[in-house]
Amino acid sequence: MCCAGICPLCKIPGGRKVADRIYDIGIVGGGPAGLTAALYARRAGRSVFLAEEALPGGQITASPAVENYPGVRSMDGIAYAACLREQVRALGVEPTAVRVERVCDEGKHKLLLSADGGQRCRALILATGSRYRRLSLPGEEELTGHGLSYCATCDGAFFRDRRVAVCGGGNSALTEALFLSDLCAEVFLIHRRDRFRGETYLLERLRARANVRILTDCRIVALDAARPLSGVTLEQGEDRTRSHLALDGLFIAIGRIPGTEAFRTLVQLDDGGYIAAGEDCRTSCAGVFAAGDCRSKPLRQLVTATGDGAVAATAACAYLDGVR
Ligand code: NAP
Repeated sequence: MCCAGICPLCKIPGGRKVADRIYDIGIVGGGPAGLTAALYARRAGRSVFLAEEALPGGQITASPAVENYPGVRSMDGIAYAACLREQVRALGVEPTAVRVERVCDEGKHKLLLSADGGQRCRALILATGSRYRRLSLPGEEELTGHGLSYCATCDGAFFRDRRVAVCGGGNSALTEALFLSDLCAEVFLIHRRDRFRGETYLLERLRARANVRILTDCRIVALDAARPLSGVTLEQGEDRTRSHLALDGLFIAIGRIPGTEAFRTLVQLDDGGYIAAGEDCRTSCAGVFAAGDCRSKPLRQLVTATGDGAVAATAACAYLDGVR
């Protein structure tokens, strides 16, 4: 238990102002999970404080087309996020543009601390998502959505009967390559080492596919700059032989970075740094819930994020009913 600025646990200089109003439910993160949580919490009659450091909408705004969300045949990610934002705004929730740097568990209240202020709430939903690890190559950002993707489940269908590559050697890369091998004419799996982190049975299944070629000891060192992506430059083997690989699409699957650093001392994280919480979204801290991509889970998709938002808000309401 600690309080703004004066408690040594906070390790943040004092002087910030803590707002007088105490909200029923605080939500950190304004992506689909956080916005859905706000929707459910408001419809349950709770007051909601929604903190989002960037533009609300989250990762889905980078998707050129949402085609795997039930009931939505095709919609661009920005339009989808705008609809959800409007739906939440109509219920009186206006996201506050603030970066939550730390949360102090005061028992009955959770205190959200930002650089210049504090906000108390009775229950808290963490919905800070995760971001894809990038190769950090020139042009990577500009090509995203133009031949370059981080999610085969989301974007694979755009590359039907085309020639694609998957970069990575973990289970994500292997499952994405398998998924794509059912859709695409040719799939290259490009891994920087000769040993795979992913499971052997997945690798064996890939090796049995006639349209899959596995390139090991191989690094992507450049992306063709013009949009859409038309190929990559590779360096392979000890002598780092350079070659060009023509492609219609590249899927980068080299892991994710969860947005959980600020909550490391508040809730228990799993080995990958995700918030340890089951399908009920309850965390190790009473009154704190995790929703969406920042939570431990096997499938990170729009549909699972919004599902979590609903579950977390309902669980937070039940928690409030129990303690009031
Ligand atoms: P991961 O296991 O951390 O693997 C990341 C892969 O990307 C590694 O092979 C790594 O290479 C490579 N990599 C990292 N940085 C790179 C860079 N800058 N350039 C090139 N390659 C780079 O991540 P993940 O595959 O996303 O899996 C995350 C967790 O989810 C794992 O626990 C995984 O088992 C689980 N998962 C399970 C399933 C399933 O079906 N069971 C599916 C997906 C994910 P090195 O090996 O050389 O480090």
